[in-house]
Amino acid sequence: MTQAATDVLALAREQVLERGEGLSRDQVLEVLQLSDDHLEDLLALAHEVRMKWCGPEVEVEGIISLKTGGCPEDCHFCSQSGLFASPVRSAWLDIPSLVEAAKQTAKSGATEFCIVAAVRGPDERLLAQVAAGIEAIRNEVDIQIACSLGMLTQEQVDRLKEMGVHRYNHNLETAQSYFPNVVTTHSWEERWGTLEMVREAGMEVCCGGILGMGETLEQRAEFAANLAELDPHEVPLNFLNPRPGTPFGDLEVLPASEALKAVAAFRLALPRTMLRFAGGREITLGDLGAKQGILGGINAVIVGNYLTTLGRPAEADLELLEDLQMPIKALNASL
Ligand code: SF4
Repeated sequence: MTQAATDVLALAREQVLERGEGLSRDQVLEVLQLSDDHLEDLLALAHEVRMKWCGPEVEVEGIISLKTGGCPEDCHFCSQSGLFASPVRSAWLDIPSLVEAAKQTAKSGATEFCIVAAVRGPDERLLAQVAAGIEAIRNEVDIQIACSLGMLTQEQVDRLKEMGVHRYNHNLETAQSYFPNVVTTHSWEERWGTLEMVREAGMEVCCGGILGMGETLEQRAEFAANLAELDPHEVPLNFLNPRPGTPFGDLEVLPASEALKAVAAFRLALPRTMLRFAGGREITLGDLGAKQGILGGINAVIVGNYLTTLGRPAEADLELLEDLQMPIKALNASL
């Protein structure tokens, strides 16, 4: 092993594994710059950190799109933007279908059901639909409910809290310095403002992003540091799956070793945070990637279909967790 690699891995062992203190931005960058020869050692360390500070449990979540497509924003990776010539059409889900999806999600062993809408922020019609959906789910299914409805006002935060939403997802998507290259219709700071209101209202904060959107390793390290500063309960990590018709449609898929290094580096920056494998991992990592990620710092997964692309079937992930003897559990403060 080279001296630099030995140094940063030894330092991470002492600082993160022993003391539970996440790596700084510069330290994360050193990890991201490690050569592929060190990948195995890095993943093994990230796994040890996850086991020590989070335990063996894995949280499983299902997501459902209540309102798909036709979004007025221009996030360059997103096939749900109404501004690009992508094939996703605008559609609403009815309440019985929502309840059925929640039932199927609970049946798969998942403890979390996230209701997602492709919007800048919710309007009255969407909030009314969410309220009715949550009530209908509560009457029939025992599952925690999360929402992802874009940017919120204080009044909307309060209403979601009253509806019993215990976790809110709103991704910062990328490093603060790279965000203007990804989105021009709203700012990183506006997103941050929503996240602060969510936390202050007492909901759990879920905030992550997408890797492989053309950001540099420095910006990837900056993003890990941004997230460490926010200190969310959960970080969903996506890898860009370039969608036809979007401005990022022609970007290269992130090489598997780079994606796995990023997973491990984010674990070392965020030792106690729930780190969830979200979209794009199949195309980036293939079937084996699920195992490598779950043995390299990941402790939460999404089952079934992602929002605009098909994920691995739920059974494949659930069997893997059983093989690895990692119990499925709700990982939140309220249980
Ligand atoms: S990521 Fe969300 S806000 Fe951005 S275009 Fe897609 S649906 Fe709209």
